[in-house]
Amino acid sequence: MSFNALLVTKNDEGKTHAAVTQIAEDQLPEGDVTVAVEYSTVNYKDGLCIGPGGGLVRNYPHVPGIDFAGTVEASDDTRYKPGDKVVLTGWRVGEVHWGGYAQKARVKADWLVPLPDGLSTRQAMAVGTAGFTAMLAVMALEEHRLRPGDGPVLVTGAAGGVGSVAVALLAALGHEVAAVTGRPETESYLRDLGASQIVPREMLNETVKRPLESELWAGCIDAVGGAMLARVLGQMKYRTSVAAVGLAGGAALPATVIPFLLRGVNLLGIDSVLQPYDNRLRAWERIARDLPMDKLEAMIQPATLADLPQLGADILKGQVKGRVVVDVN
Ligand code: NDP
Repeated sequence: MSFNALLVTKNDEGKTHAAVTQIAEDQLPEGDVTVAVEYSTVNYKDGLCIGPGGGLVRNYPHVPGIDFAGTVEASDDTRYKPGDKVVLTGWRVGEVHWGGYAQKARVKADWLVPLPDGLSTRQAMAVGTAGFTAMLAVMALEEHRLRPGDGPVLVTGAAGGVGSVAVALLAALGHEVAAVTGRPETESYLRDLGASQIVPREMLNETVKRPLESELWAGCIDAVGGAMLARVLGQMKYRTSVAAVGLAGGAALPATVIPFLLRGVNLLGIDSVLQPYDNRLRAWERIARDLPMDKLEAMIQPATLADLPQLGADILKGQVKGRVVVDVN
């Protein structure tokens, strides 16, 4: 029994190479549930793992793919039986453990979540880790008092995966959304998702000169980090929150503590990888309920396993728009 996978190998000089390869079922890693994968996707981390690894991949040969959705084929765990539809994000699958860029995956039952009612496996991967994380960020802002009508909510890296889903979710929940993008050509795409204001990236590129600027934003979902996050902190309204999700623009935070002390601003860290099970369920249920499926459809770029080496390189350069859905079959 063999199946197709995107296999990344490493040669004696330490150079990696990714190609679609036939894998035998007995090569799959240990785990208690075997899943017939239907769809996976491309996240920023996948770009690293398809390429030289960025320190995330420990052993080669490796099958990347940090998330997938499919149907249970075999299970040694009472929570899942053959035929069940499941989703996986996080737990370092696709990094340390073999991931979703294959027609089959074997994983721990603890890492899976039942596919929520109302979502197909394809829609679940259109959401993927990026969209799941956007939902976690929205939930964190709500837990810290954000309500529709409070004022514009800023989304940075808006045309990317996390950003696109964040814009669509916030707009559908009744928030006014300001979308930061470095790609002016994505303006109509972002407006269609629900953004009412487009903020050019250059406006937030400069490093902090004044620790406090005019109070502009009632909340922020930040996929960029770096100098942009530092600037945004100084523009937050009194007692509001920023959900820090990503580092597409850098890991450093060249900020001052003044916005925390004088404006009571909160910086909320969002981690999707080790989220407790109950929170995962809640987030997926909220996605099925609150994310307009026509907006999700507008974000989708379809792909196959063979497209992944190119798409991996593209996402690292910030050139992927919205969400790639990979049909592994
Ligand atoms: P994408 O590449 O799809 O989106 C990132 C976007 O950021 C780009 O599309 C671009 O948006 C913007 N961007 C890229 N480079 C820069 C730059 N140098 N300066 C400013 N903006 C830039 O990636 P994802 O949406 O999948 O992920 C976004 C970030 O979130 C990544 O850092 C990722 O690692 C992180 N992440 C974190 C998770 C967690 O658990 N905390 C889970 C998932 C992702 P535009 O063209 O509109 O400007």
